[in-house]
Amino acid sequence: KNYQIIIEENRRLYNEVQELKGNIRVYCRIRPFLQGQNKKQTSIEYTGENGELVVANPLKQGKDMYRLFKFNKVFGPASTQEEVFLDTRPLIRSILDGYNVCIFAYGQTGSGKTYTMSGPSITSEEDWGVNYRALNDLFHLTQSRQNSVVYEVGVQMVEIYNEQVRDLLSEDVPDASMHSVKSTEDVLELMNIGLMNRTVGATTLNEKSSRSHSVLSVHVRGVDVKTESVLRGSLHLVDLAGSERVGRSEVTGERLKEAQYINKSLSALGDVIFALAHKNPHVPYRNSKLTQVLQNSLGGQAKTLMFVQINPDEDSYAETVSTLKFAERVSGVELGAARSYK
Ligand code: ADP
Repeated sequence: KNYQIIIEENRRLYNEVQELKGNIRVYCRIRPFLQGQNKKQTSIEYTGENGELVVANPLKQGKDMYRLFKFNKVFGPASTQEEVFLDTRPLIRSILDGYNVCIFAYGQTGSGKTYTMSGPSITSEEDWGVNYRALNDLFHLTQSRQNSVVYEVGVQMVEIYNEQVRDLLSEDVPDASMHSVKSTEDVLELMNIGLMNRTVGATTLNEKSSRSHSVLSVHVRGVDVKTESVLRGSLHLVDLAGSERVGRSEVTGERLKEAQYINKSLSALGDVIFALAHKNPHVPYRNSKLTQVLQNSLGGQAKTLMFVQINPDEDSYAETVSTLKFAERVSGVELGAARSYK
């Protein structure tokens, strides 16, 4: 197949750019076709063990139709919640060693962001999403070390909507309120409160959540019993607004304003992660509320993981490519001109 030639030619290039990535990881997850979806043409042509992904443009033919992307990992439609979390585990462990960890899910509405992060349910263990698994790991680890380290864990949750930051856990406080927690269940309870507050004024959950960002921050402070030294780490679980591009002609008024704010903040996020991946001396945190809220958690010794969610549908091709280009840019692995097969 033609795309095999593209892959071969680009392998050397990946190795050269590999070291650029530092503490930024990008995992791509392709959601399966859904039950009842009768049209099953896919734009995904190939996925490789080593994070390669080839998409096919349905409007082109022959060798021109393929485009290659490369990420740290690609999870195909059959991958389980457990498999997806496996590579996230070491990041969670590092929080107790004093690291800040940020986990994002990026993609168009309906691409599986919520499925990956929250999971379809928490009643059955195999359904658990990254959020629940991460919190569980975190609390298990603090418990297993409780004879040598005393931990305090605090949670904050904010929403960013039209460039305004709002505390989802209490009203009328100048800064995001901090809530002390002792278990995963405590955090889930707060998340539910936050989720309810988030949907105030919206007719459906999806309506509001797809147009605002929410950030759940878990701050861990550990005091060593013997030395009394203090280590602080944090975990930020970021549910981003849908990345779909909305044309000016399609929406007006309030919807257009929302779309513009979302575009602005997502591109500001992209710029910040790009600057960090390239170790640029200036990181443009001030360009959006989202990047301001995360300023202390991105960069420096922070570890960033982005799940890039893909809808496999051929009709989503344009959005898929736009999502993959964003992800490629933040990962620091831009194959540039060499990517397309000539
Ligand atoms: P988003 O949060 O990006 O808007 P959702 O997570 O709500 O998207 O996913 C859209 C639909 O696809 C939901 O019905 C969800 O259950 C389903 N879905 C997403 N990812 C998967 C997956 N990996 N396996 C099975 N169903 C999935």
